[in-house]
Amino acid sequence: MKASSCDTDVLVVGAGPAGVAAAVMAASLNLRTMVLEAGSVGGKLLRIGALENVPGAWSTGTQLAEALAADLARIEKAGRCTVVQGFAAQVRGYEERAELTLDDGRVLTAECIVVATGVTDLTPSEAEWVTVPAAFSPPPLWRTSPQDLTGRTYVLGADRPLGTWLRAHPQVSSTLHVLCPPTDRYKAAEVRDDRRVRLIPASHVVITKPVYGGGWTVEVHGPDGSKTVYAATAVLNNLGNLPAALTGLVSGEDGYCSPDEQHRRIRIAGDLRSGRFQRIVTAQGSGAEAVLAHYYASRLSHAGGTP
Ligand SMILES: Cc1cc2nc3c(=O)[nH]c(=O)nc-3n(C[C@H](O)[C@H](O)[C@H](O)COP(=O)(O)OP(=O)(O)OC[C@H]3O[C@@H](n4cnc5c(N)ncnc54)[C@H](O)[C@@H]3O)c2cc1C
Repeated sequence: MKASSCDTDVLVVGAGPAGVAAAVMAASLNLRTMVLEAGSVGGKLLRIGALENVPGAWSTGTQLAEALAADLARIEKAGRCTVVQGFAAQVRGYEERAELTLDDGRVLTAECIVVATGVTDLTPSEAEWVTVPAAFSPPPLWRTSPQDLTGRTYVLGADRPLGTWLRAHPQVSSTLHVLCPPTDRYKAAEVRDDRRVRLIPASHVVITKPVYGGGWTVEVHGPDGSKTVYAATAVLNNLGNLPAALTGLVSGEDGYCSPDEQHRRIRIAGDLRSGRFQRIVTAQGSGAEAVLAHYYASRLSHAGGTP
């Protein structure tokens, strides 16, 4: 391949399982590789207290995140990769390069940009089935330690972290009152038989501050037209997530970014692709695939074929 005037050959945005797999693949193909990460290497792995569906002897996401960080450090030490801290805002594809703009104004250019930013937490004000006071920001369930559970706890949503949290804390015996909208019903199936969970079907929930005393008033409108009011000591957020798409990506109505819809110099990997198949192994596979697709397409174009 001819030498490029870009900052790097492959720029990977996001160092979760998809991004790290992309970086390892790019470095192994001798491509100059840069990884941009806003937080910590490992992404969502750092939230997984009890890991499933992953080959190897990992029992927690943190263990796997540490292994991925070691992989990145190894290729960085070998001079094949640079890891940069920063938050990506916008991406653009051109004929000869792709360009990434960070929120601090920095611009990075690459032959190919792999966007693997995953999904981000949905807030109560973004969930259509929830009405909350301004600036209401309940702590996320996944970050709640069993010692923090006091009194009557209501959980907004039955998204997958609920099952993970219960598996990670088998010693917990207190009850979680889980407000479950129709869209979460299939996710709630895995916790239905757990005696620590009380599922409350809800088509709409209104949360207010009580006139007297602390805690929250939780008004639940059921799918059967019923209305029940509960007093909560604490409310936790388990509403699910939204795709963390960057400006400039082509996204569907659901906000996800199909790999087939993007500029040819921009590849999508991991959870950002679709609400389906959000698993570590498929994320890793798609990261490697994104780089291979770019590699062979550019070899073909330099050989005079059609990419
Ligand atoms: C509670 C929980 C339990 C789970 N349990 C399992 C399980 O047991 N088994 C399984 O297979 N899967 C599980 N999953 C799903 C799995 O974690 C994801 O499928 C996987 O992490 C997706 O990898 P990713 O690289 O696409 O995204 P992520 O892991 O989300 O990584 C994205 C990375 O991009 C970074 N980023 C985001 N935006 C920007 C930006 N603008 N600029 C720079 N960096 C950015 C983030 O900081 C993050 O590091 C679980 C998920 C959760 C939430």
